[in-house]
Amino acid sequence: MSQNDEARRLARAQLPAGLRPETLAVRTGLAPSQHGENSEALFLTSAYVQPDAQTSAQRFAASEDFTYSRTSNPTVRSLEARLAAMEGTEAAIATATGMSAILLLCLGLLKSGDHVVCSRSVFGTTVNLFAKEFAKFGVETSFVSQTDLAEWRAAMRPSTKLLFAETPTNPLTDVCDIAALAGIAHGGGALLVVDNTYATPALQRPAEFGADIIMHSATKYIDGQGRVMGGALCGPSRLIKDVFGPVMRTVGMVLAPFNAWVLLKGLETLSLRMRAQSEQALAVARWLEGRPEVARVFYPSLASHPQHELAMRQQSGQGGAVLSFELKGETPEAAKAAAFHIIDSTRVLSIATNLGDTKSIITHPATTSHGRLSEEQRQAAGIGQGLIRLSVGLEHVDDITDDLLRGLSTLNH
Ligand SMILES: *Cc1c(COP(=O)(O)O)cnc(C)c1O
Repeated sequence: MSQNDEARRLARAQLPAGLRPETLAVRTGLAPSQHGENSEALFLTSAYVQPDAQTSAQRFAASEDFTYSRTSNPTVRSLEARLAAMEGTEAAIATATGMSAILLLCLGLLKSGDHVVCSRSVFGTTVNLFAKEFAKFGVETSFVSQTDLAEWRAAMRPSTKLLFAETPTNPLTDVCDIAALAGIAHGGGALLVVDNTYATPALQRPAEFGADIIMHSATKYIDGQGRVMGGALCGPSRLIKDVFGPVMRTVGMVLAPFNAWVLLKGLETLSLRMRAQSEQALAVARWLEGRPEVARVFYPSLASHPQHELAMRQQSGQGGAVLSFELKGETPEAAKAAAFHIIDSTRVLSIATNLGDTKSIITHPATTSHGRLSEEQRQAAGIGQGLIRLSVGLEHVDDITDDLLRGLSTLNH
C-alpha cells in the first residue's frame, strides 16, 4: 500500500463533526486495519507485538497504545468509542458485566468512611452490592425513594460522594428527575451516576441532564438479542481514563473482545430496536389497560403513569420496552394463581427472568427477580403477587397480545 493510500484510509476514519446519534452508532470506532474491512474486526489476542524494546517501554509507560488486553484491546476500544459518542460523553470504559461496571465505579471513587445515596428501586443486585459488599469495607449507603426529591436531599451528608439512580426502574417503571438529582449531587459536592440500561442512549442521554457518569448493563438492550454479558461506564476523560482506567488495569474485570464485538454490532441497530420495541410496548400497554382482568398497567408512555410528562421529556417521548401489569385478585394467593395461569398459558413468549431481547419475555417478579425479599419488603416496593413484567420484543404485536389473551380469557374457569 502506498503512503497515499494509507493517509486516505486514516483520513476516512476521522468522521466530520456534528454527525447525528444514529450515524455515530454505525460509524464510530477505531480506524480499520490495512485490509480495509468495512465491518469492524474482532481482535482475539491477549498480547501485542512491539517493534522494538524502546517503543515497548514507551507504550507500557503511557498505557495508550496496545500492549496487553487487560489494558486495552482494539475491538473493546471501538465499542468504548462508539458508546461514548452515543451517550455524548468524552469517554467510556467497558467491563465484563453490568455489575462489574458498578464495582469499578465504587473501587475508583470510594474509600472507607464515604457515603452513597441510592434509590431504593434500583436493580436488586445493585442494592446488594451497596448494602452488603461495600458495607464490609466501611462504605455506607442510604436508600431513598425513587421519586421523592426531599428524601434525597435529607439523606445528603458531608461524606456523600455518590448519588446512584436508575430510570426507569424495574419492574414498575418509576421515573426519577435526572436534572433535579444532578442539582442535589452537585450542591453537596457529590457525583450523580445514572444506570441507563433500560432507556439506553437511543432514548435517554443522562449527561444532557447533568449526570456525571452513565452506567450500563450492555447485557440487555445494547446486545439486544440475549447473547453476551457486558457493561460500561461513560463520562469525562478525567474520570474514565485517569481514575477508572488504572483501577481496571489492576483489578481486571475487562470485557472479552468477542463480547465487545457483539455489542459493537448491537449498537448499530439500537436506535431502530428501541423505537420499534417502545411502540410495540405502548400498543400492548394500551391493550392491557382495556382488559377487565387487569387492575393497573405500569408504563411511562401511558397518561396514567405518575411521572408521564417527566418521562416523555427525559426519554425522547418514548416509554422503553418494559412494562408491568397487576392482575385483579381478592387475596395474594388468588393474584399469584392468576399470574401463574397467564404465564403458563403463553405459547410464544419466553418464560425467563431477563429483558432486552428481540424475543418477548414474561416474568413473575415476586417469585423470581424479587423472590428473595420478604413479603413486607415486596409490599413496600409495590411488587404484588399479581404483578407480571413483560419485556416486549419484535414479534408481531398481535401475536404478543394473542398470547396474553390465552390466559386472560380463561381466568377463573
Ligand atoms: C441487568 C442489570 C444490571 C446488572 O447487569 P449484568 O450485566 O447482569 O451484570 C444492572 N442494572 C440494571 C438496570 C440491569 O437491568
